[in-house]
Amino acid sequence: MSRRGRQLLQVAPFQGELTSSWLARMSDTCGLHIQDLVRAALADAQPAQVTGAPQPGREVFFNRPARAAVCHFTAMPDQRLGALLPSFAGGHELLDDGFERALAAWYTPRLPWVSACSRCDSSTARASASVMMYPGSDRHICRRHRRWLLAAPGRCPTIALAQLPEVVAAHAGHMALTRTVPQAPAMVAFGAAVVWSWQVQGWALEPVWARRISVLAGQLDCSSTVVAAHPLIPYPETVAVARLLGAPAWRRHLVSTAAVHGLRTARQELYEALARCTDRPWLADWLAAGTRLRHPAAPHPDPLEHWLACLLGTTAWDGGPALPLWDLPDSIRWPGHYGVRSSCLTEVRSREITDQARHLALTGGWHP
Ligand SMILES: [Zn+2]
Repeated sequence: MSRRGRQLLQVAPFQGELTSSWLARMSDTCGLHIQDLVRAALADAQPAQVTGAPQPGREVFFNRPARAAVCHFTAMPDQRLGALLPSFAGGHELLDDGFERALAAWYTPRLPWVSACSRCDSSTARASASVMMYPGSDRHICRRHRRWLLAAPGRCPTIALAQLPEVVAAHAGHMALTRTVPQAPAMVAFGAAVVWSWQVQGWALEPVWARRISVLAGQLDCSSTVVAAHPLIPYPETVAVARLLGAPAWRRHLVSTAAVHGLRTARQELYEALARCTDRPWLADWLAAGTRLRHPAAPHPDPLEHWLACLLGTTAWDGGPALPLWDLPDSIRWPGHYGVRSSCLTEVRSREITDQARHLALTGGWHP
């Protein structure tokens, strides 16, 4: 085997790594530009075509003949690469799999990604080039170093969680949910929508989020308006709500309460359970008042009312069709755009705030 061949074999992908990140580490080892490495990988599969150019934060996708060429070039089986690299096996809808020409293209990743924790691995592989990973549903926190991982190409920015132990504790609950329930990502997305519906209504006297915002702003040396929209701020409540709504025994109890005592009693029990799980004793009364007098900024329909209606109208809790319960209408989803969230939470409609957040790597990365 040639010296370069042996070098390539030493650069194994990490579990969940972006294909472009793996190839970037490989090109570092070989001393080749990454685009030249992609072309070299496809050299035996002529005709071949590479569209677009590598840019920070981009992913490289291959069609079927190109994937076969990459496997041959790196001497790694397709199954192994597919298992380790989330973007490798699926190709891309813009790349024709049935075409005999080997096609590679650079696009924006279809999934959120983060920079891997650089403290976790002191190997030369990671020291030479920062590793970009798909965090999946719950790998956005390094538990070993208690860090929230952010996304910035070529850097490894993180948020230290030493002063935010509740975030680390919530992450343990999040991982337990992911391990045990297939719909965990949808449940967390629902929890985020519920908590977002509370966030946009101000909670002016809410000290817990204010403290988290202050810790984060202090750590990143920026104003509180820049960090207010980051998913870390409501994360513990998001997970707590997801775990409550996702618990089958609790859902069975709620359904039977509604059947025996009526919707009003079931709703009050739900509010009280939410108050307990989020550790806010006042929340039950606040939610009850909210159903009587809805804030103009509150999402329509209210996520909790939507969930309750779905629960009482389906048999999802006893093995029936589960999807409708966790199907979120677009109108009540957690807004994916940082600027949209920021303007709702801080009443500052400023591109400068989003630009600062982007500079601090707060606008990308994991989201519910
Ligand atoms: Zn780490």
